[in-house]
Amino acid sequence: MSRTTNCRYCGHNIDVAIALHNTCTPDVCDNSAIEQMAKRRKEQEHVINMLATKVMGWEKHEVELDLTDGGTKKFFDSWRKNGKEVATHWQSLYNIADAWMIVDRFKNESDAYIRFTFESHVPPLIFAIDPAVICEAAKRTIEAIETRA
Ligand SMILES: [Zn+2]
Repeated sequence: MSRTTNCRYCGHNIDVAIALHNTCTPDVCDNSAIEQMAKRRKEQEHVINMLATKVMGWEKHEVELDLTDGGTKKFFDSWRKNGKEVATHWQSLYNIADAWMIVDRFKNESDAYIRFTFESHVPPLIFAIDPAVICEAAKRTIEAIETRA
């Protein structure tokens, strides 16, 4: 007899060994794993869009790709400022070069309160700085600006 349990998301009874093999988690079924992944991706996309628009002041354009070379992703994000493309495939949550554009943006901020707020949320140790940490600091800065009034 194989061990079974209830999926932590949908509650269906599932085989623990199969779940562990398929989803790397003993109590998550295939469907729930896919749903959770899609949900997480959506949340991350939301954060990236928020940072691009509110922090960087960019506008998003979807660019359609020519897939004659066999590519799989039909659209990609082109970010523009004043009609000029300033970034493509901007992945500030994962890519340090993209995230560093946020650091540069705050470095050039003329409002000292905003500049200081961002800096206060970035760890002083360089080893602790990664793209997610920079994005989190930017998120908190936006929150501080919006509640400043
Ligand atoms: Zn499930």
